Amino acid sequence: MPSYAVLPPLVAVLQAAHQAAEWHAPQRRKGEAAEPYINHLLEVASLVAEATQGNDANLIIAALLHDATEDCAIPNEDLVARFGPDVASLVAAVTDDKTLPKAERKRLQIDHAAHATPRTKILKLADKTSNLRALAASPPAGWATARKQEYLAWARAVVAGTRGASPWLEAQFDAAAGDAERAIGS
Ligand code: ZN
Repeated sequence: MPSYAVLPPLVAVLQAAHQAAEWHAPQRRKGEAAEPYINHLLEVASLVAEATQGNDANLIIAALLHDATEDCAIPNEDLVARFGPDVASLVAAVTDDKTLPKAERKRLQIDHAAHATPRTKILKLADKTSNLRALAASPPAGWATARKQEYLAWARAVVAGTRGASPWLEAQFDAAAGDAERAIGS
């Protein structure tokens, strides 16, 4: 028997959304508009839901919780206990090892994307799509053009490894990358 309660998918998704809102309550996005962080999590979850036509509740839950370990230090065992091993392993697959230097973490993301499962690829694609939409609409105030260009190139390199997982989501990413490129200029 799993220690977590097996709930109807709609109930489980909303519980995860509520939990994510509480965990990330003090956090804001990096952009000038400083939107509440939950906006990012809901956008990623919504992209995942549409890409999978609502048929993968655990992947939607993982999207809501994908930054909980990295940003809120929620241990993976807690995610297993509350949301089950499938959700916890999806979150672990998109969580950077913060003991590594930043450049190494960024390089590993490119590496890992290419070898990820199709579900993890969808999660990564949705996350990068949301981040590039934000870069176009509300870039961080302190970022020079070169830093924005570097971020865009890196996001494209990560997403290159996810090609084939969801053509619809790839199109969303490509549109966001194009908008970001135009917004950044040269
Ligand atoms: Zn994210």
